[in-house]
Amino acid sequence: MDLKNTRKIALHRHLELSVRHSTLKALAPQIGIDLKSDQDFAKYFLITEPMKDLGSVLSKFLDTQKVFFNEKIIEQISYEACEDAHNEGIKILELRYAPTFLVDGHKDMTFEKAHLAIVKGVQRAEKDFNMAVGLICIIQRILPVADAESVTDFAITHKDTFVGLDLADNEVGFDSKPFSSFFLRAKKAGLGITVHAGESDVPKAPRYILDAIEHLGAQRIGHGVQCYRDPNVMKHLIDHKIPLELCPTSNWLTGAVKNIEDHPFRTLYDAGVLTTINSDDPGIFNIDLTHEYKLLANNFGFTNKEFEVCNATAYEHSFISEDKKKKAWS
Ligand SMILES: [Zn+2]
Repeated sequence: MDLKNTRKIALHRHLELSVRHSTLKALAPQIGIDLKSDQDFAKYFLITEPMKDLGSVLSKFLDTQKVFFNEKIIEQISYEACEDAHNEGIKILELRYAPTFLVDGHKDMTFEKAHLAIVKGVQRAEKDFNMAVGLICIIQRILPVADAESVTDFAITHKDTFVGLDLADNEVGFDSKPFSSFFLRAKKAGLGITVHAGESDVPKAPRYILDAIEHLGAQRIGHGVQCYRDPNVMKHLIDHKIPLELCPTSNWLTGAVKNIEDHPFRTLYDAGVLTTINSDDPGIFNIDLTHEYKLLANNFGFTNKEFEVCNATAYEHSFISEDKKKKAWS
């Protein structure tokens, strides 16, 4: 199978963690990081071995975040993220970012300025590579609820350039229910709703998935990988046609599954749960989407036909407009 050139749809990818490595290396001195070797680069910017939990993975994201220091760089990173996706065979891409995370520590940066720069980079790439890109705005669940309110307002104000709203960061100890009103408001305004839920290997994980659906109106679940522990949650996902944005390597690196061979992708697919294939944070994990396709083919016997099914699911449930999707996909 020529998996590199298989056309793909990616619904779950974080812009902040998809920075091209050559760009990160070039910018490192400007953020006070002196890289003497490839080992140095890996130490600051890569996660290639399982970390002890999701929390320690998230803290490693902070160095990469420092490079988003002006609009020119933000535009360049956004453009390159799309170009890299295009080179992986991705025709339809949903790219997400958290305005609060992106601007943090950059004193002259605002949500508005950062977003305009991202949109500029993305629109230029859409034209150059004949691809469809949709931006998803992220609310960070670890921040105070007041921040969530301003991010929601921001997303709704820019609903012409955002396709959806997401809730991200560590769900353990950060209940999703307090965010309910923001998500319901965004949904009413026409934004698609996806929520990171059921990612970590904790007893309550399946319950978190139901919370996201029942209280936040989630139409898709980011990860949701732990649903396999509860047949009722799987049935709920199947009955309500709510797809999972699965990211196998990410789940291994964050400790959501112990070994990659234990990933329940095949079990979920065979049970009829709607599954889509994603890379989450390709830059920091040092992977691309083709890597995930190969992983599924080699470990779980996924065939071209089955990849087509996953992409058909992703197409149907993408928040990007039908016109735009059709043009890029055909
Ligand atoms: Zn994610």
